[in-house]
Amino acid sequence: MNTVRLSLRAWLLLLAGLSTLPLLLLALSVLWSYKNDQQQVLLDRLKTRTELLAQSVGERVKTAVGTLQGIAESNAAMTLDVPTLYAHAQRVVAHNPDLRAITLVNDQGGRLFLTSLPLDAPAPSLNAPELVTEALRTQSPNVSGPFASPLRPADKVVAVTVPIVRDGTATHALRMILSTASISDMIDERRLPPQWVAGIADRHGTLVARSRAPERFVGQRVTNEFINAVETNHRLIFEGVTLDGVPTLNHVLPAVGADWFLGVGVPKTVLNKPVNDMLTRIALVAALWISLSVVATRLFAGYLTRQMGIVVSVFGRDDPALPAGQAIRVQELWDILQRFWLTKEAESAARSDLSTVALQRDEVQDLYDRAPCGYHSLDHEGRVLRMNLTELGWLGLTREQAVGRPFTDFLTEESQVIFRERFPQFVRDGTIKDLELELMRGTGTPMPVLVSATAIKDAAGRLVSTRTTVFDNTDQKMMEAQLERLARTDVLTSLGNRRDFYEQAAREIAHAKRHGDPLCLLLMDIDHFKKINDGFGHAAGDEVLRKLSRSLGAALRETDLPARLGGEEFAVLMPRTSTEHAVAVAERLRHTLENTAVEIEGGQTLRFTVSIGVSTWQNSDAEVDATLQRADEALYRAKHGGRNRVEWAPTASA
Ligand code: GH3
Ligand code: MG
Ligand code: MG
Repeated sequence: MNTVRLSLRAWLLLLAGLSTLPLLLLALSVLWSYKNDQQQVLLDRLKTRTELLAQSVGERVKTAVGTLQGIAESNAAMTLDVPTLYAHAQRVVAHNPDLRAITLVNDQGGRLFLTSLPLDAPAPSLNAPELVTEALRTQSPNVSGPFASPLRPADKVVAVTVPIVRDGTATHALRMILSTASISDMIDERRLPPQWVAGIADRHGTLVARSRAPERFVGQRVTNEFINAVETNHRLIFEGVTLDGVPTLNHVLPAVGADWFLGVGVPKTVLNKPVNDMLTRIALVAALWISLSVVATRLFAGYLTRQMGIVVSVFGRDDPALPAGQAIRVQELWDILQRFWLTKEAESAARSDLSTVALQRDEVQDLYDRAPCGYHSLDHEGRVLRMNLTELGWLGLTREQAVGRPFTDFLTEESQVIFRERFPQFVRDGTIKDLELELMRGTGTPMPVLVSATAIKDAAGRLVSTRTTVFDNTDQKMMEAQLERLARTDVLTSLGNRRDFYEQAAREIAHAKRHGDPLCLLLMDIDHFKKINDGFGHAAGDEVLRKLSRSLGAALRETDLPARLGGEEFAVLMPRTSTEHAVAVAERLRHTLENTAVEIEGGQTLRFTVSIGVSTWQNSDAEVDATLQRADEALYRAKHGGRNRVEWAPTASA
C-alpha cells in the first residue's frame, strides 16, 4: 500500500488553505444574497424607468395628436376650406421643429395638400394608406410605424393620423409626419443609466426609435423575444439579446395605446457588475490571504524546520532514519517530539532527584554545622579550612574570622605547645585519638576539649586536609577534678587525707629543696579519744573530729596545710616556717583546742585535749616519712609526758 507522506510545509499549507474555507463559504453566501438584492433593485429601477419613458413617449404623441386635432376641429376643416387649412397647417409646422409636414388626405387615399410642397403641386404617394382607412373607420387617431420620408428617403419618419369628423362622418384625415429622430431623442442615452438601451417598436415589431444608434437600427425588426413579449402581453420581463448583440434583461410596456411598445434593457454585464465587482474583491482578498498564508507558512515551516533541526541534532543524532540537513516529515517530527517529551520527563525526574540530593546536602550541612561536637578541617600547616557553627560558637568567631588562621590561635598557651608537638606526628601517622587540648573561648575562659582527627591525603601522601572532631571535655574534666579532690579529701572533716598530705609534702619538700626555705611538721593526736567514743558515743567522737578540723582551719595561716592522716591523728605542714615558730603555733593550737567546747546531741558539751609533736624537715630527709617519724617520736614523748602538751624533735644540726 502506498502511503502519502506530506512534508511539514505541505501540512501547514494544507491547514492554512483549510482555514480559509469557512471564510470563503461565508463570503459566497453573503455574495449570493447580495446578488439577489442587487438584481431586485435593478429590476425595480428597470420597471420604473420603462414606465416613465412609456409615459413621456405617450405624452409626446398625445401632444402631436392634440395639435392635429386642433386643426381637424377648426372651422376651415368643418367647411373643408382647403387653402385655409393649408395655411393653418403650415403655421403649425413652422412652429414645431420636430414636425416634418402635415398632409390632408381624402377617403380614397388622395392627398389634397402637403405642407412641404406648394398647395397645388402634385404630392408623392401616401405611405401606410390603410392607417387612414382605419382612422376614418374608427374615427380615432392612430400612429404608424416608421417609413422613409417621401421627400427625403434617408429620413425615417412616422405618421400620426387624425380623422376630420363632420356631422358624424369622417371623410378626410389630417396626417402629421414626425421624424423618428425626435422620438429617439426622447429615449436618448442621456435619459438612461449608462449602457442601458431603450427602443420603441410599432405593432408589427418594426423599430420606431432607439436610444443608441437609431440611424442604424430604426426600421429594422426587433428581436423575436421582444415580439413574443408584446404578443403574449403577460411576460413583460424577458431576457434577450439586443440588435447590436448585447445580452440584456428587458422590460416592455405599451407606449401609445396599442400602436407602439417601449422596451428598456439592462445589459447583463451591468446587471452582474456589482456581483462581479464583489466577486473580484473577494477573489483578491482570498488571493492576498492565501499568498500571505503561503509566505507565513513557508516562514513558519522554515523556522520550525530549523528548530527541529536543533532538536534532531540533540535527540536524533544517533537515528539513521533522520539524516542531517533533510526536510522533516510529520511522522519524524512526531517521533522527535515524543523523544523530546520523554527526555523532558527524564529531566524533571533528574531535577527532583537533584532537589532531593540538595535537600540531603542541606541536611548534611545542617548536621555538620549544628552537631553537638565541633568539626573542623586544617591544611598541612595547621590552618583552618573549614569549621562548623558549633565550634565557631565556642570560639565566639564568624566563619570568615576563623578560616585561614592557624588553629593554634584558638588554643591556650599550654595547648599550643601540645599542638605544635603533636601535629607533625599526626601528619605522619594520619590519625590521632582523644588528644586533650584547651580552646580559648570567646569569653576568654579555657575550654577543655578532646580532639580526634584523621588525615585526608593525596596520591603523593601529602596532607590535603584533616577531618577533625572536637568534643567538649568540660564535664569530664570537672568530674575528674572532683574525683581527684575526693580522692584527696577526708570525708568526715573535709581536710586533706593521708594521700593529699603525702603529695603536698613531696611538693613542699621539693620547694624547700630548691629554695632552702624551712619546712616544719606538726603531728597531733587527740588524748584519750577512746574514752570520748566510749563515753559519749561514736557520733560525739565524730563531732569532736569535725570541731577540731574547723578550729585548725581558723587558727592556721593560709600557707599551712592541715590533713587528717587517719583516726584522730592530724598533721600540719608548715612551709617557710622555723621550728620555733612552728612550736609556738602548736602551743597556741593546743591551748585553743583545750578551751574549745564541743556541743553534742542532748545539749551536752564536752571538752578534749590534744598532744602535738613538732619536727622540722632536714636535707637528709629523702621522704617526708623521716620527718614524720621524728614528729611521731616527739608526739610519743608528749603523750608520755602527760598529754595535752607540745614536744618537738631536735634537728640533726641542733
Ligand atoms: P591516747 O591518749 O593514748 O591517744 O589514747 P586514745 O584513747 O586516744 O588511744 P588511741 O589513740 O590508740 O585511740 C584511737 C581511738 O580512736 C580508736 C578508735 O576507736 C577511735 N577512732 C579512730 N577513728 C575514729 C573515727 O573516725 N571516729 C570516732 N568516733 N572514733 C575513731
Ligand atoms: Mg591515736
Ligand atoms: Mg589518741
